[in-house]
This record gives sequence, structure tokens and C-alpha cells, in this order.
Amino acid sequence: MASEDTFKKLIAHAKEYGFVFQSSEIYDGLSAVYDYGQYGAELKNNIKEYWWNAMVRLNENIVGIDSAIFMHPEIWKASGHVGAFNDPLIDNKDSKKRYRADVLIEDYLQKIESKINKEITKARKRFGDSFDEPQYRETNQRVIGYQTKINETKTRFVKALEQDDLKEIKQIIIDAEIACPVTGSRNWTEVRQFNLMFSTQLGSVSEDANTIYLRPETAQGIFVNYLNVQKSGRMKLPFGIAQIGKAFRNEIVARQFIFRMREFEQMEMQFFIRPGDEMQWFEHWKTARMKWHKALGFSEEKYRYHDHDKLAHYANAATDIEFEFPFGFKEVEGIHSRTDFDLSQHQDFSGKKIQYFDSELNKSYVPYVVETSIGLDRMFLLILSNAYEEETITKEDGTKDQRVVLRIPPALAPVKIAVLPLVKKDGLPEKAREIINTLKYNYNCQYEEKDSIGRRYRRQDAIGTPLCITVDHQSLKDNTVTLRYRDSMKQDRIKISELNEIIFNLVNMKTLLEKL
Ligand code: ATP
Repeated sequence: MASEDTFKKLIAHAKEYGFVFQSSEIYDGLSAVYDYGQYGAELKNNIKEYWWNAMVRLNENIVGIDSAIFMHPEIWKASGHVGAFNDPLIDNKDSKKRYRADVLIEDYLQKIESKINKEITKARKRFGDSFDEPQYRETNQRVIGYQTKINETKTRFVKALEQDDLKEIKQIIIDAEIACPVTGSRNWTEVRQFNLMFSTQLGSVSEDANTIYLRPETAQGIFVNYLNVQKSGRMKLPFGIAQIGKAFRNEIVARQFIFRMREFEQMEMQFFIRPGDEMQWFEHWKTARMKWHKALGFSEEKYRYHDHDKLAHYANAATDIEFEFPFGFKEVEGIHSRTDFDLSQHQDFSGKKIQYFDSELNKSYVPYVVETSIGLDRMFLLILSNAYEEETITKEDGTKDQRVVLRIPPALAPVKIAVLPLVKKDGLPEKAREIINTLKYNYNCQYEEKDSIGRRYRRQDAIGTPLCITVDHQSLKDNTVTLRYRDSMKQDRIKISELNEIIFNLVNMKTLLEKL
């Protein structure tokens, strides 16, 4: 998928085929909140299973928990979220649109970057095989100009972020002549800090002491359970705790469909280690997580690491795994070396000793942590945008046709197998149901008898079903069926007794997990 236009089609497709709906749609929707439909919920569950199994089943030293969304309010003071979980926001006075100031600047930098890339593509065409990109970057005046602009703006931006200098952030926006993307106006307000946590009241009396927060990340539920898990599971360092759950952020700007939501789900793993070992484990998880992504088989060029310019208050190394969404390269997962910041803070704030006795070193210490944190909804969007394809196909009679196919990795597909009787009579529906009854315990199957077989295949392509089984009159005589593959549209005549093995080899989660 290349353009914003196709992205719009993808959003429409996700709605039309029961993947994602706007929340409260009949009341005109709720901004940046979404519901998952019948196929969306299946796909989401499959992504969770892939992540959970990759973490918890494949690693002897990682266990999973499920902590509550509500937590003691002191936790968010200890973690720094009450004081520092802010985004810089800016309003355009003419359009009345609100933006994240840092995102405006990042988008501006990305625009210049794509100008450089355009120059390079043009030059590569002109010079052919003899093209030397590094030399071109160093000598072409236009590219040098762009690069200097990027470097200067980036240096100022990083410094301003580090010093929380909101005036300077606004000045960068003014100097770079950044305009409101909607109206082109450059009439900006001052930059202000905005805390992203939702608060609510616990109990019936609304006084300050009862203010609690909806968690903005799942990680703190892991930190505050570190001792419980370590003791009850007799865990030895290094070990990890994984969790999948909802998180809530009152995002300033809701954009790009399910990319940035106010209620979303995270899959996080905190890996507890000996202090000093963090860089080794940081590298380990960087590689392991990229492998998890690439096992899905999408184009390798769509992934890259992006090291953080500004480290969060808790981190001593951090990188993002970025993916090329239809609207550019964006973060899908973060890998952070968080030192002993969180556990030490909870030790101080709670007054409880949170330490590990290392029998090899014969001493106690607060463990260090390397975390991996991925947004489930962003991963969902990554898969949909990779999978969506509009394809022109040639039919058997030579005429052309169009199909929309979701090339979802088979192990993650919402429906694995559709069983289709050729006609609704002559005992074919009964035979089809007989087949489903043998498969349904292992796979999500769908029975469909309405419309022509061609239209039924198209509907299954559109929801990403990897296999269709067609039952016809011959099936009654010799117990064979037609197996039709989503991607190649190839059709094979096979024995019903052979179905299980073929299906298993194509769609089982094992096929993915074995690549890790
Ligand atoms: P961003 O820079 O995009 O706001 P972040 O750096 O604040 O993200 P983290 O706090 O590191 O994100 O959260 C870890 C992961 O959670 C992100 O990589 C992303 O996949 C997911 N995530 C964060 N915020 C949202 C959101 N508002 N909607 C959906 N997913 C989110």
C-alpha cells in the first residue's frame, strides 16, 4: 500500500468486513476510541496468542500475569507519570485545530527527508550503475542544504525537549515556517504541557485523596508485582514478567485510525537482570523482537530501528521498532533499558524493600530492567496495512476481474477455513457440516452456502481466509474435496482424510513460533 488514498480504502474495508468499527457510531462516534468486530476480535486474539506464546511458552524464564487497571494512586507519583507524563500541545488560532508540537516538528523533518530521497531516486535513474550515493549526498548542493536544515532543526529540537523549553519549541515551529496541515495557517498559540492520564474517583465521596487513574501503561502493574512473582514462582535472575492489557491515554490529537487511540491495548514484558548486564540484554531483546516481527514474512525493508534522541526520564538506552505504515515510518514497538528506576522508586514510595538476593555474588540489589512494549492495536494495523491488496486477476475464460485480498499470515487469520457446499441440496450441506465437525475443535471454521462459489471465494479473500474447501457431488462418491488457496487461488483435488495435515502445516501457530 502506497498512499493515504489506499489507507482510506483500508479503513472502509475494515468496517465493511467486520474488523473495526468506530465506537458508539450510532451516536456519531467517540473520538479515538474503536470497537473490534467479529473478525477483528479473532485477529486480535491471534496476535495476542502469537506474542504470549513467543514470550511465555518459548522462554522458560518468562511468566505472564494479569494485573488490575486501577492501582494505588501513589504508583503514578512513583513512576513519574503524575509529574512528567506530558505532551507539548499547540493550537492553531485560525483553524482551532490542536496538535502535538513535537509531532509537527517530526513531520516537518520527515518531509525534508523525503525531498532528499526524491533527489537521490532521480539521480540514481540519471547515473545508472555508476551512481555513488554517499558521494552524491556529500556533493550535491541541494541535498547538502536539506541535510543541514535537518541537522540544525534536530539539534535545537533535542535540546529544547531535554530542557523542557516550550518557548524554544514554539520558536522552532515559527522558524521552520510550519503551517497547520489543514488550513496552512501559521497563527500558533504558545506551547503548553498536557498530562495524558485519565482520572476518576474511587468510592462515593469525591475528595482529592480518592482520585485514581486509569493506567497509561501496563508496565507498572508488573513492577509492583515483582516481589510477588519472584517469591511465589521462586524465580532466579534473569527472568521476565509479561502482561497483555488495556491502557488509557488522553491523547491530544487522535489521528490515523487505530494508530493512536485513547483506549488501547499493550503487550509488555519486563526482563529483570543483574545491574551491569543491561546493554547485553538490550541488544538481545532488540534482535529477538525484530525476529518476531520478521517471522510474519512481510517485506524486510518495511522495518527499521530508530534510536531515541531524547531518553525518557527512566531510560539509559532506548530504541523503537518502526514500520512503514501507509502514512510513513512510525513506531510499533519500544525496547527500553529502564535501569532500576521503577523498582527503586516503588521501594522509596512504598517503604517496602524490593531487592533480589544474588547467591552467586552473595549480595542483594535492586534488579535492572529491559522492557519490550508493543501496542496490540498498532500491530493489528501493521498487519492489515500489509495484508490489504487490490488485485487484478484473469479468470478461466480469459476475462479480467478485480479482487480485494487480505494476505494475513495464515496462523493469524481470523477464519482459517471456509467449508462451502457447491449447491444447497443433494446432501452436500450435510457433507460440508461433517467436515466442519472434524475441524472446528482446532480451527475457526466458517460454513457458507449462499451465492455462487466465485462470490463466496471473494468474500473469504476479503477477510483473509487462507483455505476454502468446496464440497461437490463427487465428494459424496469418493470422499475428495477441492482445496482452494487464498494467495495463489490454486485449486487442488484432495482426499478428505488428507485435509488435517495440509491445514496444520499451513495455518498452525507452530509454523510461526518455529521461526523464532
Ligand atoms: P508515541 O510516541 O507514538 O506516542 P510512545 O513512545 O508514547 O508512543 P510507549 O509509551 O513506548 O509509546 O508505548 C509502547 C507502545 O504502546 C507503543 O510502541 C505503541 O505501539 C503503543 N501505544 C502507545 N500509545 C498508543 C496509543 N495512543 N494508541 C495505540 N497504541 C499506543
